[in-house]
Amino acid sequence: MRPDTGGTRTGWRWAGGWLQAARHCPSPNFGPRPEGTGIDLIVLHSISLPPGVYGGPEVEQLFTNQLDWTAHPYFEQIRGVEVSAHFFIRRDGELVQFVDADARAWHAGASCWRGRGNCNDHSVGIELEGLEGEPFEPAQYGTLTRLCASLATRYPIAHIAGHEHIAPGRKQDPGPGFDWQRLHHSLRWADACFPQDTDHTPSTLG
Ligand SMILES: [Zn+2]
Repeated sequence: MRPDTGGTRTGWRWAGGWLQAARHCPSPNFGPRPEGTGIDLIVLHSISLPPGVYGGPEVEQLFTNQLDWTAHPYFEQIRGVEVSAHFFIRRDGELVQFVDADARAWHAGASCWRGRGNCNDHSVGIELEGLEGEPFEPAQYGTLTRLCASLATRYPIAHIAGHEHIAPGRKQDPGPGFDWQRLHHSLRWADACFPQDTDHTPSTLG
């Protein structure tokens, strides 16, 4: 079944830069975008804390500066980081929003895409609960499709790319388990919107 790509159904409406369909979990990790910046890029990430463990509160704790760094050995490796994404899509498709999409979240770091650096300035960051190299859930693709379509109703979105594409060599997420062709087919956006090196990812559409 093709996911609904509508962005105006009940709940998938915007209140300023907050999407009403999302559960709101405000993060202090954000700032203003440079004046006059067009928001034209969606950046996809994957995250799970500890890596490969799903369903817990740790990602939301990380993005709200409430993670107990001593609770797991891995957390010591990221101790003190202050990061955020605008959105987080859990394995069951639940959508969480941390930062007003009009504001600048801290997800991309040193980055460049199609000739423009500092991608945090002009992008919306979406984290998928998952692990690099592992597949993602159908419910996540469904929510991601609706979210991207909704973003495109509010912002002049022209590109969508992975963290691995905007920070090559430094980042690998969301990784080869993410099915770009599936997203491409469900969004029906032009080829030029997508990274061009995703042919290795087989489509799971029939
Ligand atoms: Zn990332």
